Amino acid sequence: MNSRIINEKYRNGELTPPQMLDNIYKDIEKNDLNDFITLTKNIAYEEAERSLKRIKNNKTISPIDGIPISIKDNFAVKNTRMTCASHILEDFISPYNATVVKKIREAGGIIVGKTNMDEFAMGSSTENSCFGSSINPVNKDIVPGGSSGGSAVSVKAGHAAISLGSDTGGSVRQPAAFCSVFGFKPTYGVVSRYGLTAFSSSLDTVGIIGSNIEDVTNMFNTIKGIDEYDSTLRNIEEIDKNRKVIIGFVNNIDGLDEAILNVYREKRRIIEKSGIKTRDINIEHLPESIAVYQIISMCESSSNLARYDGIKYGLQIKEAETMKDIYSKVRGIGFGKEVKRRIMTGTYFLSYKNAMYYEISKKMRKQIYENMKKVFKEVDYILMPSTLNLPFKRGERMNDPLKMHLSDSLTAFCNLADLPAINIPAGIYNELPVGIQLIGNSFDDINLLKEAENIEKIWSQE
Ligand code: GLN
Repeated sequence: MNSRIINEKYRNGELTPPQMLDNIYKDIEKNDLNDFITLTKNIAYEEAERSLKRIKNNKTISPIDGIPISIKDNFAVKNTRMTCASHILEDFISPYNATVVKKIREAGGIIVGKTNMDEFAMGSSTENSCFGSSINPVNKDIVPGGSSGGSAVSVKAGHAAISLGSDTGGSVRQPAAFCSVFGFKPTYGVVSRYGLTAFSSSLDTVGIIGSNIEDVTNMFNTIKGIDEYDSTLRNIEEIDKNRKVIIGFVNNIDGLDEAILNVYREKRRIIEKSGIKTRDINIEHLPESIAVYQIISMCESSSNLARYDGIKYGLQIKEAETMKDIYSKVRGIGFGKEVKRRIMTGTYFLSYKNAMYYEISKKMRKQIYENMKKVFKEVDYILMPSTLNLPFKRGERMNDPLKMHLSDSLTAFCNLADLPAINIPAGIYNELPVGIQLIGNSFDDINLLKEAENIEKIWSQE
């Protein structure tokens, strides 16, 4: 689904926003991919009618006016259920809109529903959802990736033109790679996190999934910018690039799947043939970055998830007598296995005796950050695979949490170093999609999107 084509159809009267919604909801029912947790039909049809009026009067307000958009179920949409795919929030109705949701609505975007995900965004396959996994439309035997798996599926299946996800360690880029769509994680501090359920506050970013770069860019322009509810934000400008672009290719990736390595080499050849300069680079601490990510994110999540106490909101248990009883019953019943594992591990790392793990991880994070600044003195962008391995089979990693955690080996360092990155689909081989990410320097998001468009064009012309 492409917004430019939808807009053209609206303009020449071939399609109206309510008709488009009819088609989408029919298809969601027919092809049960389990990409949505909640459909927001009432709001969507209201918004569609309003959009239709603007289209008829030639008064559309933005490029996403009338465009169907899906939102990961860890963003707040006013008066709508927000579950984070967790039993503990199964009946929670959000009393307010996330800033990004408010901005989308003000721009005339139509929110079709809330997408499936790994519980509290912890996972790489969308199998950690209390609503069951989503199905990958490219190949039903493989997982759609995660944690924003429902978002990637909704875009690939044409149930939304654009989707919002969250990327803490790779949760937008990895599912985008597995479903063969674009998935963009902006620089930390560019898009408001107000109304995004906190997982790991120093790493969480709002990400965008789309079937083409133009849609991703239009959405980015809609949601970026300062917000009084998120003090980490700044406005970004386009950074002037007068020199010739140099793209770095990473030569120290351990354990890369042979098939992905071949695609990576071939894509480099095409880039070089087009005249773009390339250079070999080394990403220091790349193998350790996933461990650093896990320690920091688990510590932060154990602290963030303390708020689900069965008292203020979420699941409540009537048969509890003491405070301790309430906590243990609500959290025992409400949280899934992976979330519990992370809370316990995070609490362990934060305990006085083990504080060195967190301390060392913070130091390592700083080193990774500084090293990346050096790399970006030599090159303008980095191209590297989004994942070490091809998409894996459903169920394959569910009993092997360590292997599941390694799914983000090539994405998490960008979150540690505050770098923007976008997954570009690099083809489907034997029904298995491969994704390559383009990574830019912090706050160079606008140029990064332009370069990604350029690269995609070069690859598709070959
Ligand atoms: N898959 C990673 C994890 O499980 C990343 C999650 C994310 O980016 N939200 O932690």
